Amino acid sequence: APAGMGGTPGQALLPQVKNVILVGAGKGGVGKSTVSVNLATALAREGAKVGLLDADFYGPSVPLMTGITDKPTSPDGKTLLPMEKHGLKVMSIGFLVEADQALIWRGPMLHGALMQLVRDVRWGELDYLILDLPPGTGDVALSLSQSVRAAGAVLVTTPQDVALADVVRAKQMFDKVHIPVLGIVENMSQFVCPNCSHVTPIFNKGGGHRAAQMFSIPFLGEIPLDLKIREAGDAGVPVVIGAPDSPEAQAFRAMARNI
Ligand code: ADP
Repeated sequence: APAGMGGTPGQALLPQVKNVILVGAGKGGVGKSTVSVNLATALAREGAKVGLLDADFYGPSVPLMTGITDKPTSPDGKTLLPMEKHGLKVMSIGFLVEADQALIWRGPMLHGALMQLVRDVRWGELDYLILDLPPGTGDVALSLSQSVRAAGAVLVTTPQDVALADVVRAKQMFDKVHIPVLGIVENMSQFVCPNCSHVTPIFNKGGGHRAAQMFSIPFLGEIPLDLKIREAGDAGVPVVIGAPDSPEAQAFRAMARNI
C-alpha cells in the first residue's frame, strides 16, 4: 500500500465497498467509458451490487451512455444520492460541473472535486465500484487511484502502436502505486462490415494480446468496432442490456467473470 496507508483495499474512504476496480487508458477516445459502463452492467446482471463512478473530467460520457438526464440530489445538503439506472448506482463529475469548467481547474481543485464524488456519495453497500478514470497518467489519475485503494485496474487500448505505448505508461503508473493490473481489453480491434461481414483490422490487430504477453498480465478480450456500440452509447442503453445476445455483450460478460 502507499506510504502511511494500511488496511485492506477501499477501507478508509469506502468502507462499504468490497472492490474498487479502476478502468484506465493511456489516452482519451479508446473506449474507456464504453468498457466501464458495459463491465459495470455485466457485473450487475450477474447479481452483484455495482456502482459506477465517472471521474473523466475531460469528457464525462457516462450520463449520456447510461441515459441519465436528471441531476443527483442532496437531501441533507452534505451527501449526494447516486442516480440509479440499469441496475447500477451511478455518479459522474459531469453531473456536477460543466466539462469546459473542469478543464481549466488546476490539479488540487480537480482532485478535491473527484474526492468529493468518492467520499460524499451515499454508495451504500457495493460488491464493486467501477471507477472510470481520467485518461492518461497525470497527477489527477495517479492520486485518485491511490486514494481509493483499488483492488485492481483494467486497461483499455486500441491495437495501434501509439495506443500501446500509452498502455505501457499506464502499467508503469499502476506499478508505482502497487495496484495490480487485472488485465487488458482491446477495443475497436476490428471492423465487421454489417453488409457483407468482411472483417477489416482498421487499427491494426493483436496489439492488446502482445502487450498482455509482454507484461504477463491477463488478456480480458477484444471488442470489435461496431456501429451497435456507438449507437448504444448514444442511446443510453449499454449493449449488455440492449443487445444481450450480441458477440460484444458476450465479450463484456466474459470479462466481468474474469476480473
Ligand atoms: P473514452 O472513454 O476512452 O474517451 P468512449 O468510451 O467515450 O472513449 O468512446 C468514444 C466514442 O467511441 C463513443 O462515441 C463510443 O460510443 C465510441 N466507441 C467506443 N468503443 C466503440 C466500439 N467498439 N465500436 C464503436 N464505437 C465505439
